[in-house]
Amino acid sequence: MKKKKILVSGGAGFLGSHLCERLLKDGHEVICLDNFFTGSKKNILHLMDNPFFEVIRHDITMPFFIEVDEIYNLACPASPIHYQFNPIKTIKTSVAGSINMLGLAKRIKAKILQASTSEVYGDPQVHPQKEDYWGNVNPIGSRACYDEGKRCAEALFVNYRKQNNVRIKIARIFNTYGPRMDPQDGRVVSNFIMQALKGDDITIYGTGKQSRSFCYVDDMIEGLILLMNTDDSFTGPVNLGNPNEMSMLDLSSLVRELSGSESGNTYDDLPEDDPMQRQPDISLAKKALGWEPKTPVREGLERTIDYFKKLQSES
Ligand code: NAD
Ligand code: UDP
Repeated sequence: MKKKKILVSGGAGFLGSHLCERLLKDGHEVICLDNFFTGSKKNILHLMDNPFFEVIRHDITMPFFIEVDEIYNLACPASPIHYQFNPIKTIKTSVAGSINMLGLAKRIKAKILQASTSEVYGDPQVHPQKEDYWGNVNPIGSRACYDEGKRCAEALFVNYRKQNNVRIKIARIFNTYGPRMDPQDGRVVSNFIMQALKGDDITIYGTGKQSRSFCYVDDMIEGLILLMNTDDSFTGPVNLGNPNEMSMLDLSSLVRELSGSESGNTYDDLPEDDPMQRQPDISLAKKALGWEPKTPVREGLERTIDYFKKLQSES
């Protein structure tokens, strides 16, 4: 296998840090680009001694120049609390950031993968979601900075391909969880586990009947790498996620059971435009990448609970 030079934007984040780790393990040279908005040096501390790993503090809304073979564009806050903190910045990161990364890919003839999202389907009226569904997104709602930013990024990617023949790949990532999630970032898996471990009530938004499908991080990273390594004729978009759909009430029961917690449930308002159901149709990923998730949700949650227990014992 050829040793490649690979740029990972957002490399100090949850998914990015796992991706950097895996690419180094596969024998590549990795450059992690991050502005540390939601990412942390702690996520990549264990990689710092590797001479083939480099970290650069940089905001992708500003141009960046380097020579690499591949670019994984993961930079963008992913949890609703963080992406709604500065919505204009979130849009700039997806739009101006993608333009900068695509411009770089064009100039140096690198392959580039975009971390898109199931949020491009909005509150979907088709279930499960297939790649040919155009989505149901509120362009002026509180999630729009993220959803519409990612939709515009997809449009940029396909047009850089059409106009400039840039080798692109688009992954539509569904809810992913695992060690190194930020316990403070408000996503459901980290919230529920932290609450269960502390013995606090588990916060269910709305009725808790809304559903999501949760994919373990190692499976997701495998999918992203397989996608990057497909033939140039395959661009996606392709759904990556675990079709194992569950309601937030079921998730709370499972987390309670696996962490041996006696926490109860407490109910809060459902956030604006919160999608009611979400499940990936992964037939394309199976066919084009030979990929499907391997980690059962119980096993993945157990590993994640262990991680949060360790975090707690260190603080
Ligand atoms: P994360 O917030 O942990 O990581 C994002 C990283 O990007 C952080 O390290 C952050 O500091 C960095 N960043 C943000 N804005 C930046 C900018 N302007 N310039 C440079 N760096 C910047 O989130 P994550 O869960 O690791 O998500 C990674 C990518 O995958 C995101 O693009 C996200 O939209 C996408 N995604 C994630 C999920 C999921 O469930 N985790 C689902 C769908 C899509
Ligand atoms: N959610 C919840 N309690 C929480 C955090 C989130 O019930 O403490 C719900 C949220 O309303 C949504 C689902 O869990 O319906 C997933 O939320 P998350 O923010 O993790 O991801 P996204 O909505 O972006 O898929």
